[in-house]
Amino acid sequence: MAKLYFRYGAMNSGKSTALLQAAYNYEERGQRVILAKPRIDTKGDQTIVSRLGVTRPVDFTIDLTDDVYTLFQRQRAAVLRDEERDVSCLLVDEAQFLTPEQVDDLLRIAIREGIPVLAYGIRTDFQTVAFPGSRRLLEIAHSLEELKTICRCGRKAVFNGRTVDGRFVFAGDQVAIDGVDVAYESLCGACYLDESGDTLASGRRAPVALDPETLGPDPDFA
Ligand SMILES: [Zn+2]
Repeated sequence: MAKLYFRYGAMNSGKSTALLQAAYNYEERGQRVILAKPRIDTKGDQTIVSRLGVTRPVDFTIDLTDDVYTLFQRQRAAVLRDEERDVSCLLVDEAQFLTPEQVDDLLRIAIREGIPVLAYGIRTDFQTVAFPGSRRLLEIAHSLEELKTICRCGRKAVFNGRTVDGRFVFAGDQVAIDGVDVAYESLCGACYLDESGDTLASGRRAPVALDPETLGPDPDFA
């Protein structure tokens, strides 16, 4: 059975490079892949841009309201018609910007169409809160793989600090508005807390009240 894979990491963990490498590995064996990405990302528009300087156009982009299942089926049919061969894999860059419904489509493509889907994305935003697409991928992907990068202190980076004009900020929109001089630095947990003054998620999440009466006894601790 084909699977849905989520390969996630902090900023600058080489996700686009890994995606292009995966595409190359398929093509080296003579197989056809389809590349897609959400349209919200304006870095390269119709192109996947890796930090190593390799770029490549996508086969289709995905708008917020798009039905990804149908878009994929259309692409697959066009490849069958024009090239008389089938598609071996769907690769999706910047998957954190997909809607949860679109991630569900990716799972359907893997299971119903029998095509492996490799989704690459950032797990959390600059306030340590999961992007909607990433949260859904963490919930339903068959396989999770972390792409690692290093914090300035040498530990593994897991968070993304946002800077504006070179200073860390911990409030603002999940997706930064174009035109503002925004940058990101991948940080380990310790460096993130040092910079944020011990704050995580900047109060975006209400504390969860767990009522032991409704939860019932925990069999592990009863
Ligand atoms: Zn650090």
